Amino acid sequence: MSLKDRIIRLIEADGPMPVSMFMQMALHDPSEGYYATRPGLGQDFTTAPETSQVFGELLGVWVVHEWDVLGRPQPCHLVELGPGRGTLMVDALRAMSSSETGRACLEALQLVLVEASPALRKVQAERLQHVCPLFVDDLQDVPDGHMLLLANEFLDCLPARQFERDAESKDWFEIRIGSENGELTYGRVKADLDWLSSETVDALDHQPGLRTLCEILSHRTHPFRALFVDYGPMVQPPADSLRAYKQGALVDPLDEPGAQDLTVDVDFAALKTEAETVGLDVSGPLPQGQFLLTLGAEARMQSLVRANPNDAQSIFEAAKRLVDPSDMGDRFKAICLSSSGLPRAAGF
Ligand code: SAH
Repeated sequence: MSLKDRIIRLIEADGPMPVSMFMQMALHDPSEGYYATRPGLGQDFTTAPETSQVFGELLGVWVVHEWDVLGRPQPCHLVELGPGRGTLMVDALRAMSSSETGRACLEALQLVLVEASPALRKVQAERLQHVCPLFVDDLQDVPDGHMLLLANEFLDCLPARQFERDAESKDWFEIRIGSENGELTYGRVKADLDWLSSETVDALDHQPGLRTLCEILSHRTHPFRALFVDYGPMVQPPADSLRAYKQGALVDPLDEPGAQDLTVDVDFAALKTEAETVGLDVSGPLPQGQFLLTLGAEARMQSLVRANPNDAQSIFEAAKRLVDPSDMGDRFKAICLSSSGLPRAAGF
């Protein structure tokens, strides 16, 4: 039975399901989930590290700097959440090896990859075999100790519940996914959640995973920094942001669960609040363009051009996409969560 049919069976048995449950099944079902079985990174969607090596290289330089700030701990876990094809880490490690401090840092680092997809784990294991990564299923499983964490386009995969307020009654409803004549449909049910009544907006997407993430980080006993880059609004919560991509085009999220990427915008304001509530220090959020330019994107791009004069135009254009406000520069944000008591993180 197809994943879609199994979802319909479940709805028939239990009633309309929250969007978060639909996302979880569509992305991670072991036999048919999108990430579990056929992640189309580079086909269905592309990401910053797949666009330009400048992205991963700058994050590598960031890691070396922050390792120094942490007091050059040895060992130190370098963790990546959702490493995709491993491109960010390949570029970061290469950039690290080009300075003396970077090489000392490399000696001290133990790479830990948090990856749900067996298919992508295989790609990562091949491309990063020279540094012997440890694979874990969940951030919770990262061994204790000092930690530097990177995550690009990971938060947008965390399942979201969607809520909206009725224009007339002003009551809150949750968007649920139901079924009709063998097809998936949207519906809504009354939402009785205390915290919703104090909301000032009329619709919002809520990722419960953001709180879980902050709680897990807050339980770590050694100093750490965790850098997240993703898309989403800076102040207001996102609303109605569930999207699906197939072959680079936007498609109906309910069309083919498991065969297309699903994503939502990240609520950076909520992430900041959750982090501060559990005692973490927060830098940002800040537009990606500003963050990368502060880290030296321009100089990095120029040295790449000098080394590869024949590819100058394509190197320039790819790097520009990362920082251009009309491309990825403004839509993407960087935010850094740290254990308390550290100086401000580089780039913020
Ligand atoms: N960071 C990469 C890939 C982004 S795609 C890049 O920028 O190119 C999202 C990645 O997160 C994939 O590797 C996907 O398999 C992984 N992922 C999604 N949800 C996850 C979860 N709950 N736990 C672990 N990994 C997850």
